[in-house]
Amino acid sequence: MSQLPWHEELNAALSERKAAGRYRQSRLRTGEQGVNIVVDGKPMLSFCSNDYLGLAAHSDIKQAFKKAIDKEGVGSGAAHLLTGHSHYHQQLEEALAEFTGQQRVLLFSTGYMANLGVIDGLLSRGDMVIQDKLNHASLLDGGRLTEAEQLRFPHADMGRLHKRLHTAAHAKHRLIVSDGVFSMDGDIAALPEMMALAEQHRAAVLIDDAHGFGVIGKGGRGTVSHYNLAADKTPIVVGTLGKAIGTGGAFVAADEVVIESLIQKARSYVYTTAQPPAIAAATLASLQLVENENWRREQLQDLIKQFRQGAEQLGLELMPSITPIQPIVIGDDKKALAIGKSLEDKGLLVGVIRPPTVPNNTARLRVTLSASHRAEDIEKLLAALELACAH
Ligand code: PMP
Repeated sequence: MSQLPWHEELNAALSERKAAGRYRQSRLRTGEQGVNIVVDGKPMLSFCSNDYLGLAAHSDIKQAFKKAIDKEGVGSGAAHLLTGHSHYHQQLEEALAEFTGQQRVLLFSTGYMANLGVIDGLLSRGDMVIQDKLNHASLLDGGRLTEAEQLRFPHADMGRLHKRLHTAAHAKHRLIVSDGVFSMDGDIAALPEMMALAEQHRAAVLIDDAHGFGVIGKGGRGTVSHYNLAADKTPIVVGTLGKAIGTGGAFVAADEVVIESLIQKARSYVYTTAQPPAIAAATLASLQLVENENWRREQLQDLIKQFRQGAEQLGLELMPSITPIQPIVIGDDKKALAIGKSLEDKGLLVGVIRPPTVPNNTARLRVTLSASHRAEDIEKLLAALELACAH
């Protein structure tokens, strides 16, 4: 095969990345999903999945998935607006609208696409999107895709958001965008303050609740429910289904006019094949468990407390998080990688997150907990951290 004319340049950039300890590589997982997994052929205790409630391999969900495939096949065959929108998708949209308490819900094939679509679909030239600096890449990319101007404010700094809203006063429309639970820090957005500022400045708010949905709030209803916000103080919400819900895909929950506008304008909705209907069938089964099995969230909270107490006793630098995302800040990229490697040698897997995913000098171990972990698993992790971080 012929080489790209800029082959050497690409190759040099790859080498540079490797030397800087920032080379990205996927791992090969085999066997059943859960906290005890096999990676590159080795059994591992995992602390790096987003399957927060331990539902990804639940028998009810597997059953619903298989049943739908046996009845109707695998592929959806087309985009939603052609013949891809099955009765399972429809039922799921209705169930999610009821669950979130919003007027209507629209399914997207992934959270990444939902975030691109909702920002691009609601804004146009002359508008302003104002984002928290630590928002997920897909939200920031959504801001780059629209013709609206994009401003950013320092993480969780409501004073600076206020200033940005003044700067954006001349814009036709203003949309404030924030993660609900921040994916790399684990903290929860100051949603009530954000809603109050939005009201003051005639702005709208969009929350990406990828890591809050299923995990916090009443029955797992997410960040909006965590703060007990009144129905008329509710932002537009994006929820993803591949994390706590254990299946895949995403949705936008909002009022009728927002959803209808997205159907007309969101390119990542219009121009893509609908998810396999069986995934929607599986998600319907999962939603029942998410709502009814509170013990999963209680177990998770117990594990979070146990982990934080133990890590604090070891003098590790934690972040202010009450969610299953529990980062340990190391700082230096290579040191973080070395600690990750030493944990891995003991059969423990944690995410090692480095710039540019997180700010420079804040490389971290991203520990994520699941309701499937046991107290012994946390003890094992803490014991290994004590040894690995002592050097
Ligand atoms: N938003 C946030 C905050 C995320 O962490 C992620 C996934 N890492 C996404 C959106 C994208 O969701 P999906 O994986 O369904 O594309």
